[in-house]
Amino acid sequence: MSMNKITSIKTVSVAVLCALLSACASTTNNSVSGVQRSQLLLLPTSTVNDMSAQSYTQTLQEAKKNNTLNADKPLLTRVTNISNRLIAQVGVFRPDATKWKWEVNVEKNDQLNAYCMPGGKIMVFSGLAEKLKATDDELAAVIGHEIAHALREHGRERMSQAYIQQFGLQALATVIGGNAGNMAAQGAGLGSQLLFSMPNGREQEREADRMGLELAARAGYNPEAAVSLWKKMMAANKEAPPEFLSTHPSSENRIKDLQALTPKVMPLYLAAKSK
Ligand SMILES: [Zn+2]
Repeated sequence: MSMNKITSIKTVSVAVLCALLSACASTTNNSVSGVQRSQLLLLPTSTVNDMSAQSYTQTLQEAKKNNTLNADKPLLTRVTNISNRLIAQVGVFRPDATKWKWEVNVEKNDQLNAYCMPGGKIMVFSGLAEKLKATDDELAAVIGHEIAHALREHGRERMSQAYIQQFGLQALATVIGGNAGNMAAQGAGLGSQLLFSMPNGREQEREADRMGLELAARAGYNPEAAVSLWKKMMAANKEAPPEFLSTHPSSENRIKDLQALTPKVMPLYLAAKSK
């Protein structure tokens, strides 16, 4: 079967699922950044967020044991302040996220990486600040990008897609039969591997870039820092590929996309700064 045919069958299946389930909706409100793609969200948010919270707690416990959790207090304060300013703006994209149990931590780790797990569990690796000498604006660009993944529920979307690939249309029958509990159990049975090791898709990355840029601007961080951050990442990439780049495909297109959107979010930044 040609790739085109496989793709088109997949597209049709997803369309059928969407029509039958009304499971396709955008997780976030449309805004300046123009992110409004409909998403296939089959698994319940609670299933995904519970898995995320468990995994995050485990990570914190391990880091604590290794004395790598929040070892650098000034950096923790800095990252927490930046994150809190970003979190204060998430209601623009989805009001319910203002009630999430947000957490912010810093792990002593040379990798150039950060993440925000579903439900608002943020982790920043110290390497970002130390090795890249990232400014506050640049840290806001990375954290904003990661928060955008969580707001868009990209993890839940990836799991839903994987679920369909794994269980096919039988899963659909289960859902239509109203057996959502069983489905959730099966979803959890797939393991956190699906959620946490599957890379974000290209379109998801693009959305996180765009929404993250707007989020940072609304929080009063210079949106131009996103491009300077990516350039620093690419320069660091010449020596050894940073973790962030291996999970976040970078390209000239990405920078072009950010540069094109920057003038549109600049007024938001200037308005936030003048407050
Ligand atoms: Zn990303």
